[in-house]
Order: sequence, then C-alpha cells, then structure tokens
Amino acid sequence: MPAIKAPLVSWHTPETLSPHPRQNLLLGFDRPSTVKKPLLMPARTLLFCALLTACGPVLGITLYKSTDAYGVVSYSDRPIPGSRAFVFGDRMVEQLDTQVQLQVNRFAGGVRFSARNDTYAPVEVELRLQRMGNVQGGASRLVRGVIPARTTMPLTLLSARQPGRPVSYKEKFSYALGNPGQRQLAFRYPLPWRGGPFRLSQGPNGRYSHFGPKGRYAMDIAMPEGTPIIAARAGVVIKTENSQSGRGSHPSGNFVRVLHEDGTMGVYLHLMRGSVVVREGQRVVYGTPLAKSGNTGNSSGPHLHFVVQRNVGLALESIPYQFNQPVGGLPNFTAGNP
Ligand SMILES: [Zn+2]
Repeated sequence: MPAIKAPLVSWHTPETLSPHPRQNLLLGFDRPSTVKKPLLMPARTLLFCALLTACGPVLGITLYKSTDAYGVVSYSDRPIPGSRAFVFGDRMVEQLDTQVQLQVNRFAGGVRFSARNDTYAPVEVELRLQRMGNVQGGASRLVRGVIPARTTMPLTLLSARQPGRPVSYKEKFSYALGNPGQRQLAFRYPLPWRGGPFRLSQGPNGRYSHFGPKGRYAMDIAMPEGTPIIAARAGVVIKTENSQSGRGSHPSGNFVRVLHEDGTMGVYLHLMRGSVVVREGQRVVYGTPLAKSGNTGNSSGPHLHFVVQRNVGLALESIPYQFNQPVGGLPNFTAGNP
C-alpha cells in the first residue's frame, strides 16, 4: 500500500480569504472571485458587470478597457481610442469566438445567414434580427438551432423587398456549447486521478468560489502537482488548454473538457502547464490519461477542480454529481494505480 501523502501546503491572498488562515493554508481551492462581494464593488466594477450582463449568454466577450487622465478605468463593448482590448471569460468559460461564427452572405436579392461550428461538440445558436429595412415580411426574426460538431448550417434568409437595394437589419448572435435537448443519464463518477487518498478541499456550494451557475456543484480535491489525472467517464475531448503558467490570464488555468454521450461535460481544471496529453476531437474512455494536476489559473494551491456541466438553454451550467467512492477513503487502485 502506498504511503499516505502528507498534507499539502498551499497559499492564498490574505485579504480575500476566510478568517481561518490555518485552514486556508492546508487546502487548495479556486481563489474567490471579486464578484462575491457585490456590496463592496467600486462603481467601475459595477459598470463592468452591467456590461457583462447586458451581453447575455455569449460565452466569451471582448471588452475595451481605458484609463482616463484621472486614473478612472472604464470598460466598453465598443472600441474607445487608446483602449486596450481583452476578452473576458468567467472561470469556467472558454473562448469560442474563432470556433463558432455567424456567416453573413450578401447577394443581390438579400442576405443569407448561416452558422459555422468548428468545435467537436454540438453548439446551440440563436440569431435575433431586428430593425429590418427593405425586407419582405420585415417583422423581427428569431432563429434557434443546434449545429452538429464541425458543421455549417443555414439559419435564415432575408429577401429584399426592392431587389438591388441594400437590406438593413440589426443582429444579435448568441451560442453555447452542447445540446440542451439531450437528457442526462444517472452516473456516479470514479475518481479522476491515480494515487491518493486526497482530501476534498472545497465541495459543492463551497463559500470560497463554488457559487454561481457554472461552478456551483464543482469539487476541489487538494493533491500534489503532477498527480496523474485520468478521464472519469468516456467521451470526446472538445476543448483543451495547455499553455497557461502560474496564475496566467485564464481563470481556469490549463484544462480538459470532455463531452459525454448524454450531452453532459466533465471539466478538469488547473492542470500543470504542458502536461495535457489529449487533443481536441480525441475519444477517451474511463482511465485514459488526460494530464497532470497543477496549480494554474485562479487557484489557491495545488488541486484539481472537477465540474460537470450541461447546456441548459444557451448557457452552460454546473450540475450536481457524485463520486462512486468517498474522496478521502481508500487509494484509487481502480485505474492501474501501482
Ligand atoms: Zn473549485
């Protein structure tokens, strides 16, 4: 039997964590988000959040940050002269802007809209067209659909009332990974690592960072960096990130997202840089090595953040799940642990 690992040492930003420093010191979990304290948010943060809310369920959005002569920072969804563009994504969000695209083809008789999905998962899309001019039957239009992986799908067509003259409209395109029409199946997850036993450092609804729809039911398991992470359930790898170092620019750090047969997705976060050994589009089964655990992204110490999500209607949300054995119990021998 392997020796039980010593407690893990991790660290934290003192002003943001709980009044129990000893507890914090021993546990790895996601660092709390600033959104946790809405009453203390400065005006610019409120504006920032308002912008995010206004942008609806789009997965990742580009914002423009500028600082005026008095040091006041403002954010806009439109470019401001001298502003710096950055992409905001919350802790569980990947940037899909280049992988899911609205295609607009103008021709003499009107405009044709289609959507391209370059990901390895189905993607739900919604196109809203308003304020249409020179369009036959010009009422607003709403098109929703699910585009299979790596496919282009026609959405709608606006025909010109007066051919040869331009058609005008205002568009809003939203999308989310996954098919909201699939029904999830009951499943108890084997532990997605080799070795241990390790400790649960933050459970579902954890007060540090497990709140909000995308991560509410996540679990954090403190483990030394370099612990082998394996697929807990069969599926297709649909998204990976492998180049984040340290805190990095991406809150999730390095991660692997696996789409399961029933439309749910398992996401393994904060992985060690350069350790991801699967590629997008690859099929995995239970036990397939994915990566090594790490401490990248928004992480207070070495741990694995494992969350199961599904598309609930133009949005990915975390769903409750259970492991098939207690986390802090026996070592995980089931996946060929030596
Ligand atoms: Zn977590």
